Amino acid sequence: MIYKIALLPGDGIGPEVMAQVRRLIAHMEKSGDIRFEVWEDVIGGAAIDAYGAPLADDTLETCRSAGTVLMGAVGGPKWDKVEYSIRPEAGLLRLRKELDLFANLRPAIVFDALIDASTLKPEVVRGLDILIVRELTGGVYFGQPRGIEDLGGGERRGVNTQVYTTMEIRRVGRVAFDMARLRSGRVTSAEKANVMESGKLWREDITALHAAEYADVALSHMYADNCAMQLLRNPRQFDVIVTDNLFGDILSDEAAMLTGSLGMLPSASLGAADEKGRRMALYEPVHGSAPDIAGQDKANPLAAILSFAMALRYSFDRGDLADRVEDAVRAVLSAGIRTADIMADGCRCVGTQAMGDAVIEALATNEARASYDSTRTAKK
Ligand code: NAD
Repeated sequence: MIYKIALLPGDGIGPEVMAQVRRLIAHMEKSGDIRFEVWEDVIGGAAIDAYGAPLADDTLETCRSAGTVLMGAVGGPKWDKVEYSIRPEAGLLRLRKELDLFANLRPAIVFDALIDASTLKPEVVRGLDILIVRELTGGVYFGQPRGIEDLGGGERRGVNTQVYTTMEIRRVGRVAFDMARLRSGRVTSAEKANVMESGKLWREDITALHAAEYADVALSHMYADNCAMQLLRNPRQFDVIVTDNLFGDILSDEAAMLTGSLGMLPSASLGAADEKGRRMALYEPVHGSAPDIAGQDKANPLAAILSFAMALRYSFDRGDLADRVEDAVRAVLSAGIRTADIMADGCRCVGTQAMGDAVIEALATNEARASYDSTRTAKK
């Protein structure tokens, strides 16, 4: 099986962190674990420079035929004065829209070695591993009517509309239940069914979907405000949280900060499953293009590497390899190897390239250990 993947490094630190992912891919192919067909193209400011648009039609078609896309980051001061509709970020928005990526996945994982980076007490966040599934293309950010109306006499009225249909609720619900099946099998659905009709519909549709197709997954419901509180009080009670666009925007940022570091946060945006169960998917670090440190070998590549691990798990069904990459990251952090953004007392500060070296070395060491163990077991 050859897995197709399109790489879009983008701008600023994007190419630097993606270079480490490319090295990881080369290592995995060399070890014979997996084979990829890799396409690479430009997006954002780099695409404006090359093609005059932040996402060229050809690039979009490449992404569509690959099905799985890994992006670095877009944007930077060089393109700040570009017209709004063709600014670098518009390329990313177009990609999400054209591929109809309606479910945003944001994991929040606390690595033991980074436990002090969280502002919460270690005993509250130790071992934390949760996944927020946010509806991305509907709800109050897109609902009509919207706008600001002049009422005269200095009075104005601002309107946004929270609106969801059964189809929109069920398709994101399906993603959350499918993800829960790959994890520990629990979903919490968050809305405000107590005060919003759209929330009442959300709860009813998620409940019906669960009964019809996902009775093996444990489902609970929670009001979104209580969910925000519980994330701080006892975040480990959650496995997968599914919620709408607005609440998801807030809850995913809150959950991310439980882990304490921007340079460590991966994400994914998924579309509908085809008849073979495959989904269009875009994986990207949560961080931006960090122009302040671009080109200085200072960027933390771990968010990009962990985004690639998500692709292995959720697009290529290779949870075994995703586990290995995550274990390698864990081993590197435990060995006290850090980039500047996650530096701590007694640790060794390294650059982007050296962090990539360390992850590949840890992966190779773990592979060697696993093969030694399996040979020993076979001999016994
Ligand atoms: P940013 O995430 O790029 O940077 C915020 C701070 O975090 C900076 O001090 C930066 O140096 C640091 N940082 C970010 N990622 C890091 C990493 N991997 N390793 C070490 N330090 C890291 O956000 P910003 O400064 O608000 O935005 C900069 C540019 O990125 C803007 O043009 C913005 O539009 C764009 N942006 C793009 C995306 C995206 O591509 N998805 C997301 C956010 C911002």
